[in-house]
Amino acid sequence: AAEEGFDIDDVEDAIEEAGHGPLPVLAVVGRPNVGKSTLVNRIIGRREAVVEDKPGVTRDRVTYEAEWAGRRFKLVDTGGWEQDVLGIDASVAAQAEYAIDAADAVVFVVDATVGATDTDAAVVRLLRKAGKPVVLCANKVDGPSAEADAAMLWSLGLGEPHPVSALHGRGTGDMLDAVIEALPDAPAQTFGGAAPGGPRRIALIGRPNVGKSSLLNKVAREDRVVVNELAGTTRDPVDELIELGGVTWKFVDTAGIRKRVHLQQGADYYASLRTAAAVEKAEVAVILIDAGESISVQDQRIVTMAVDSGRAIVVAYNKWDTLDEERRYYLEREIETELAQIAWAPRVNVSAATGRHMERLVPAIETALAGWETRVPTGRLNAFLGELVSSHPHPVRGGKQPRILFGTQAGTKPPRFVLFASGFIEHGYRRFVERRLREEFGFEGTPIKISVRVRE
Ligand code: GDP
Ligand code: GDP
Repeated sequence: AAEEGFDIDDVEDAIEEAGHGPLPVLAVVGRPNVGKSTLVNRIIGRREAVVEDKPGVTRDRVTYEAEWAGRRFKLVDTGGWEQDVLGIDASVAAQAEYAIDAADAVVFVVDATVGATDTDAAVVRLLRKAGKPVVLCANKVDGPSAEADAAMLWSLGLGEPHPVSALHGRGTGDMLDAVIEALPDAPAQTFGGAAPGGPRRIALIGRPNVGKSSLLNKVAREDRVVVNELAGTTRDPVDELIELGGVTWKFVDTAGIRKRVHLQQGADYYASLRTAAAVEKAEVAVILIDAGESISVQDQRIVTMAVDSGRAIVVAYNKWDTLDEERRYYLEREIETELAQIAWAPRVNVSAATGRHMERLVPAIETALAGWETRVPTGRLNAFLGELVSSHPHPVRGGKQPRILFGTQAGTKPPRFVLFASGFIEHGYRRFVERRLREEFGFEGTPIKISVRVRE
């Protein structure tokens, strides 16, 4: 490294940063209008989680990456739903339940100017039951005169209320310090929670009506549902252990699939929140697509969510029994154009109705998990990079030729690489390197992350 002009400490820092595992998840929950979205915006430091004046505007985006005091975490915003036919208590409870389930820690936002309501008390009961660390945010404390309102919230029994003005930023730093304190080092859902050698975790995702519950019922019936839950893991009563191909798998968040809560409004929002929650808990996402229908923007959003979260991915084209020759032709064209971003994912053409090709699901999942865990030894990687750079050099820009000098794999699950370069490496060339890496080392069924460090 030193002879290539990189400081050894910088190299180590870059590898450590690129090698971070899955991030801990923080959920922001609370009644409507208490300021959840405003707080999320404040934390992520952008206007991305648009605060809508109109209630009930559904949003696709529910998770964001954030950082405080050098700690990175994922933020789940539950601000995008509306009171619905179930009534306010039930709907607050439903959205909070999804979010709490996916989270490692929770920020519970209460409007200090209103005080604790019955709905707030209901959420407190959920939080107690979940047993996750909670930071109580007493919001809308815009000035010192409102501090007394915040103190009233001790009555919720959640410990110290942190007086905050999400709107003006007052108190958010102190609250975030408490959040960092509350976040576990390793996300419990992804690694800490499962004993090594325990069942691998699968999320079955896809837009409504693609056949998720049919598929789940099919696999659970053909083989047998082992038990509903392992002793002592009552925290996730929504997960189901199913034996497939002689191996026990954990299907996460199945209650959300089976118990179809029919909501008039905000149903899309619930669906994306649930998908995000399931994906966070899983190692591999099986994305179901209705092969009989055109691939939709919603399908693509779900794919993007799974890719961004860095999970192993299998694509199952369901309802294969409904396809005629013509549809089959167009489906292939659509896959090429609409799903190019996951061209590397193993694919199965199944029918939950007839059971067609169900036996191909497990091998596809195993392939994806193997790709997800692949580690390339540094020597092999650099031999490959050296060959690549000399046979396909980066285009010359401004009289200079940026060059990849060396690289290393900083982590797995998914594979993460850091490349060290003599100058800016263009997007197109990065894509080319990724393509060649896949050709050389496989990585079937897994996103791969490549970061590039440029010598000063
Ligand atoms: P959500 O429904 O919980 O996501 O709430 P929003 O973030 O959409 O906020 C609801 C309303 O409360 C908006 O009009 C915000 O501008 C306002 N609000 C949010 N935080 C504060 C705050 O700290 N102080 C004051 N005065 N108003 C706030
Ligand atoms: P979910 O919303 O993704 O859980 O979808 P469901 O499992 O409820 O399925 C939606 C509809 O599609 C139901 O009417 C199912 O019977 C039907 N369906 C599911 N899988 C198949 C399949 O492989 N072939 C056919 N023809 N219909 C299916």
